[in-house]
Amino acid sequence: MFRSIFRPIASRLLVAVVITASMHAAVAADAVAAQVQLSIIKTAEAHTLEALTYSGGGYTKRVKLQHVAVLVRHPQGTVLFDTGLGRQVDAQVKADMPLWARPLFAAFGPVLAARSQLDAAGVPPIGRIVLSHVHWDHASGLVDFPEAQVWLPQQERDFMAHPNYLAVFPSQVSAPTIQWKPFQWENKPYEGFAQSLDLFGDASVVLVPLPGHTPGSTGMYVSLRSGKKFLFVGDAVWRADAIAPKRPKMWISSMVVDSDAAQTLKAVATLADLQAATPGLVIVPAHDADVHDAMDAYFPKSVL
Ligand SMILES: [Zn+2]
Repeated sequence: MFRSIFRPIASRLLVAVVITASMHAAVAADAVAAQVQLSIIKTAEAHTLEALTYSGGGYTKRVKLQHVAVLVRHPQGTVLFDTGLGRQVDAQVKADMPLWARPLFAAFGPVLAARSQLDAAGVPPIGRIVLSHVHWDHASGLVDFPEAQVWLPQQERDFMAHPNYLAVFPSQVSAPTIQWKPFQWENKPYEGFAQSLDLFGDASVVLVPLPGHTPGSTGMYVSLRSGKKFLFVGDAVWRADAIAPKRPKMWISSMVVDSDAAQTLKAVATLADLQAATPGLVIVPAHDADVHDAMDAYFPKSVL
């Protein structure tokens, strides 16, 4: 008798507990995502021929390139993905960029460093910087953020240790104040990637490996409460227009900047497949001003 009454009550209780727990989980995930704000901090811009950015690009079409940092404000901390050009960029170029390369790569306009913009807006200190890779135009501002941990895959840290790479500047990465935090990828599949790293444990900000341009090149997914989803891909590709047709950078550009051209092209193909499989996913190359403009989220504005 007791058991026959108890069983239905117990099973109902169990169902109620499971439903309540899963509701809590859903609410908790939403609550976190609701407060994630995403902004693009534009530090400088330049113009170039589209043809120089990808194979098949136009020889008469000029495109705008930007040097940006990506700001993610999460309840558990603030993350900067890349730094754009920093306060010391002129001295860094003078110290470490070969003269022949300056007309091509250092022809940017006025610089408004991320640190200056964040300070002016009163944003609290940055906890973490994640680098898409250590090239000079992404790492220039590291020295402006001595309070931040600088996260990068161990492969990129190893790459950086080699002194013979044109685009890695000792003046940017050798400061003893920089708090390097090399990490290992976790074998947790995410969106088709075999490995990933979930920065806050709630799937709102997830790093994925995109090797090729450099050995430890890293992409960052940001998923927002609105359902908007972005994938920041560093320099795997310079223009979003090159993704669907799976085009490499122009051969001479690729020769100068890509550590492994074949692997970089594989990364572009991966992005094309992701884009085809994920309607609404916005893939954001680090320098593509058209994609940045369309996001309508230049700091201090943000997208939620
Ligand atoms: Zn690069």
